[in-house]
Amino acid sequence: TGSKADAQNALFELKALAETAGSQVLDGLIQRRQRPDPATYIGRGKVGELRDSVITNGADTVICDGELAPAQLRNLEDRVGVKVVDRTALILDIFAQHAKSAEGKTQVELAQLNYLKQRLRGWGGNLSRQVGGRAAGGVGIGGRGPGETRIETDRRRINSRIAILRKKLRELDSTREIKRAERHRRQVPSVAIVGYTNAGKSSLLNKLTDAGVLVENALFATLDPTTRRAQTADGRVYTLTDTVGFVRHLPTDLVEAFRSTLEETNQADLLMHVVDGADPDPQGQITAVRQVLNDIGAGDIREQLVINKCDLADSDQMMILRRHYPDAIFCSARTGQGVSELRERIEQLLPRPEVEIHAIVP
Ligand code: GDP
Repeated sequence: TGSKADAQNALFELKALAETAGSQVLDGLIQRRQRPDPATYIGRGKVGELRDSVITNGADTVICDGELAPAQLRNLEDRVGVKVVDRTALILDIFAQHAKSAEGKTQVELAQLNYLKQRLRGWGGNLSRQVGGRAAGGVGIGGRGPGETRIETDRRRINSRIAILRKKLRELDSTREIKRAERHRRQVPSVAIVGYTNAGKSSLLNKLTDAGVLVENALFATLDPTTRRAQTADGRVYTLTDTVGFVRHLPTDLVEAFRSTLEETNQADLLMHVVDGADPDPQGQITAVRQVLNDIGAGDIREQLVINKCDLADSDQMMILRRHYPDAIFCSARTGQGVSELRERIEQLLPRPEVEIHAIVP
């Protein structure tokens, strides 16, 4: 459905998501049809084309921008010969990579289990529908037996794990206050980079830290790959963290996992809000990001707006953005334009260390 341009945009976004998840995208195929093929989703002809592409490119995974029924997924895997993943699974994978706090991890696992559970249900449902269609009313071959039993066992196992995770989440809720208090005691200022996927967050993170002096310090031994350390011109150390990116058309089942993963942003001293200046609707994105930040309690953290990809954006759009956001930094991670200005601005906005004054009592 939709125009050819829509399909191309959707494919482009899927590619960006796949790259965020750490995949290298080799080829893209678009299929236009009225209704998904019941057996393989894309239909026999396209399956052949897809298999050829997989072989030619040496791909090990196919990512599909749709909601495939489990049976369709399995059929497609059988015929194409590699793993097939849909958009939801891909996004869950990205969230899992970004979740660090106990709560974020738990919420993501919960979403993964719910996803799995729905697919089990779909699989069972699909099977009985197929069987019912062929042998009207009868249970038929495959409708019961070991297959069904295994689904039941799997479902029970998933349900009990879900119950454990829910309980854990309730307990975590009560430790939140303690964490908040801990935050105030931390010494090293932190900057969280927020914004939509593909805005250029990780490119800017690299640009900002490449030139910076690396500080070897035991404090940073436990940093994860999305956090880098940097140093200001006057020698103050701070951290930069790439947070989980916003996703257009986020499946509703994933909203909670997304928010709790993003909630780690709450710990930051400064938010660097990166926007793709070449996007068709940057202002809509800015509003959406700020809304969510407000919702998760990060609304009162200082924010520096960064309009990236200035090398791509057309001059009219740039002019409008400059007028709307006079305090924003305009830059390009690609050309390096504006990056040193950005670095200076961050340094200005970082909180200064508190000076402890000890009274000496004679
Ligand atoms: P993230 O998902 O927000 O971390 O975005 P990335 O840093 O992965 O960038 C997404 C894509 O945009 C990559 O293909 C980058 O090479 C590209 N990109 C990032 N910054 C710029 C920029 O300033 N100009 C241009 N032309 N492309 C950029």
